[in-house]
Amino acid sequence: MTKSTQKNQQQLDKQSDLASDEQTIIDTSKMNADKAASLNLTEAARDNDLQQKSFAGQLFMGTCQTDLIFPFPTQTSEEQNIGDKLVAEVCEFLINHLDAEQVDATQTIPDDVIQGLIKMGLFAMKVPKKYNGLGLSQVNYNRVMMAISAHCGSTAVLLSAHQSIGVPQPLKMFGTEQQKDKYLPQFRAGKISAFALTEPEVGSDPAKMETTATLSKDGKHYLINGIKLWCTNGLIADVLVVMAQTQPKTLTNGKQVKQITAFIVEKAMPGMEVLHRCDFMGIRGIQNGLIKFTNVKVPLENIILGEGKGLKLALATLNTGRLTLPAAATGMGKYCLAVARDWGNERVQWGMPIGKHEAGAKKIAFIASSTFAMEAVTYLTSHMADDPNNDLRIEAAMAKLFCSELAWEVVDTTLQLRGGRGYEKASSLKARGEKPYPIERLMRDCRINRIIEGTTDIMKLFLAREAMDPHLKVAADLLKKNLPVEQKIQAGVKLASFYSTWYPTQWVNSTLWASNDKLGKLSKHLSYVESNAHKLARTIFHYIGLYQDRLERKQHILGLLMEVGTELFAMAVTCSFAKSKLDANPEDLTPQYLADVFCLNRKRKIERLFDTLSNNDDHKENKLAKSILNGDVEWLEKGIPWVDY
Ligand SMILES: Cc1cc2nc3c(=O)[nH]c(=O)nc-3n(C[C@H](O)[C@H](O)[C@H](O)COP(=O)(O)OP(=O)(O)OC[C@H]3O[C@@H](n4cnc5c(N)ncnc54)[C@H](O)[C@@H]3O)c2cc1C
Repeated sequence: MTKSTQKNQQQLDKQSDLASDEQTIIDTSKMNADKAASLNLTEAARDNDLQQKSFAGQLFMGTCQTDLIFPFPTQTSEEQNIGDKLVAEVCEFLINHLDAEQVDATQTIPDDVIQGLIKMGLFAMKVPKKYNGLGLSQVNYNRVMMAISAHCGSTAVLLSAHQSIGVPQPLKMFGTEQQKDKYLPQFRAGKISAFALTEPEVGSDPAKMETTATLSKDGKHYLINGIKLWCTNGLIADVLVVMAQTQPKTLTNGKQVKQITAFIVEKAMPGMEVLHRCDFMGIRGIQNGLIKFTNVKVPLENIILGEGKGLKLALATLNTGRLTLPAAATGMGKYCLAVARDWGNERVQWGMPIGKHEAGAKKIAFIASSTFAMEAVTYLTSHMADDPNNDLRIEAAMAKLFCSELAWEVVDTTLQLRGGRGYEKASSLKARGEKPYPIERLMRDCRINRIIEGTTDIMKLFLAREAMDPHLKVAADLLKKNLPVEQKIQAGVKLASFYSTWYPTQWVNSTLWASNDKLGKLSKHLSYVESNAHKLARTIFHYIGLYQDRLERKQHILGLLMEVGTELFAMAVTCSFAKSKLDANPEDLTPQYLADVFCLNRKRKIERLFDTLSNNDDHKENKLAKSILNGDVEWLEKGIPWVDY
């Protein structure tokens, strides 16, 4: 076993098994049984023990440890050369051989394109050299994905589903030597993989998993039965990671808990059947489908990480896996920026290029500054992923949330700047002799990023769980059921002593004496992040006090708080990125302008978010939604054609 695999396994093994009501830090006693089961399952899979410092995580506790993100990490020149060379090769290939509009129209990535990708080693980008892969760092991998995503979303998703969540990543992290020796070299030869977790009843809630893996009588293999939905690459994959329920675990109190296990399943194993190829709004070239498993016989040695550890594996894999989405978002942003610059100059209306009318100028500034921030967040998190000592789950979730949401706005803004041409298909533009910028396709392609690998809502809930963790840990003993009164009193004293020191410091504005002068014109933005981290921390504390265990149901409030944290993170990272560029080339002040505009823009958003916490219509909206779900407002739906399916 390699050192890094051992470390990954140890980190997961170190966690206490929280798979019982008694041990779960969150009180599930007032939840319905389904919700409690879902929560217990994800809590059990959650990394509970990682101690590494997270800049983003600490923001929620009012700490702004800037040395964790300053100076902005950079590639060694050797690493940079590797990336530069491959990105240039990929760009040339894409321009000359990949017609993304054709892929979209025909729903097919041509075979010669796939062969070209194989030849460049792109199906083994993150596979270590030892297994004949390219052994790319996450930074270089994401640089390549940025380039591909800007050109063809379908091709980017083919490669990303294969190696961000498909077989290479979990094997690299948790595979046995035998599993690595057997499978990893195959990817250089172009074998394709997929990841199958989702089912018709399992979207964001893995506790509802119905696919089963039953141990054979001789104990030598498992039989997998069930249906997996929306499995990207599922139609063409040679090998898949399949999540299935194995024998439930019986706890000491007699309760049974669901166990989810990850299996490597080969296409060659009989019993796999594609029931349907799914057709989507965007990324139309992906081979995604509904797959049925009937008594698929999988040997014991094909379990990854261990029985019952499938969900832990999925969560750990996704921490790095979801970093492809920020890279994709940045690639799209860069493309939009190029289109906006060109069209903003070229299109003249009412006596001026549209980019010089104020409405156009604002759009262009937004597209550019947002793209700069997305690039900053993508690179920082990619660098973090390259150091196995980092706990990047909060940063990765924020990067995914921030970039997928912002890219959608950036593409929409670009489409608006293009006017009617933004809405027109590239093929139609080309047919009538205009520049065929495919913004219409980009918009369709980029919409999925807000859904896959954790929807926006789920990312906010995920972040909320992590943000609350330090508070939950301080209060853990107090929250325990059946604890003797003396111990409860002790726990209360411990809690009071922690908060009596911590809370007052959240009112102290340390930026008054600790300036960020080294940042020059951007220093005020970092000071803003520092003082607003305090504000965020004390606001979270106030809401914990106000709602206590009901806070978990206040999803809007939690979401706003998580957005504030995410925006503060993005501001700080963008300033750090700008500073590194200014240091490298002091003559060029454009990074400062980009970061400045981005931060000014986000400050206004943060003020709005804080304001909405106490100034919202949650109560009335909840009441109205309940009434709508009851059918009280069906009259409003009248007057349209409606088929009751
Ligand atoms: C193109 C495409 C490719 C995909 N590729 C893969 C793949 O390769 N492998 C794979 O396993 N899966 C894949 N998926 C599945 C994808 O990961 C899921 O769509 C995603 O996890 C969300 O699940 P769902 O669509 O069932 O939504 P649901 O979970 O049903 O959610 C519906 C809505 O409710 C919200 N919601 C859900 N739970 C809560 C809650 N507790 N609180 C508040 N809001 C909530 C969600 O945010 C969402 O807005 C793919 C999907 C698509 C469309």
